[in-house]
Amino acid sequence: MNLAKLYLKDFWGLFFPKLCHTCGIPLLHQEYLICTTCIYQLPFTDYHLDDENKLVKQFWGKVHVKSAAAYLFFSKEGKVQNLMHQLKYNNHPEIGVELGKMYGKVLKKQQRYQSIDAIIPVPLHPSKQRKRGYNQSEQFALGLSESLSIPVLNHVLKRVKSSDSQIFMKRESRFYNMQSVFEATQNDKHLKSVLLVDDTITTGATLEACVLALEKAGIQDIHIAGIAFAS
Ligand SMILES: [Zn+2]
Repeated sequence: MNLAKLYLKDFWGLFFPKLCHTCGIPLLHQEYLICTTCIYQLPFTDYHLDDENKLVKQFWGKVHVKSAAAYLFFSKEGKVQNLMHQLKYNNHPEIGVELGKMYGKVLKKQQRYQSIDAIIPVPLHPSKQRKRGYNQSEQFALGLSESLSIPVLNHVLKRVKSSDSQIFMKRESRFYNMQSVFEATQNDKHLKSVLLVDDTITTGATLEACVLALEKAGIQDIHIAGIAFAS
């Protein structure tokens, strides 16, 4: 950007500053979406370095996953909650892409992410996606894809019914109900290892159902990555 353009951008920014999606202060011109201070203070889990982290343990005895990691810890009324709110409810899909790019650079250093055939986002119900205009997990997947150079596949896993009606169910019945929510298909069975990605992971019930569907479709190695983990 030439100097005149840069001044014009700063001048424009005086009246209409772009704000940090995490803390709300005006961003400097070299910053994008999240200010440097907030990035520095984000609660990173470093779960990709720990094979027996709290998230992967959640799946033990339920479904088999090769690994599970989330980029950030989710806490109510924290920086991550602000970010996730902007991503999901304020029409800012670019936050998902950016977090995916950032996390992908971190994961790239680990051997286990180098033999993955495809990244598969947890699908939203089509009516929900139409309403929101995008799937936040897919946006995260696109960012990961850019940094890891692994393609995103949207046609493998499908949500065949909405799971909104099961909020008040007990955990076990919710799991059995979830099992029929997803279906996976791959015609030529070429996928062996995939990275299944979600936005905020809480109980893991959604992911468990996705893992079962993917296994049925012949995928053996399933890794999980989320933006945030509410432990
Ligand atoms: Zn900030």
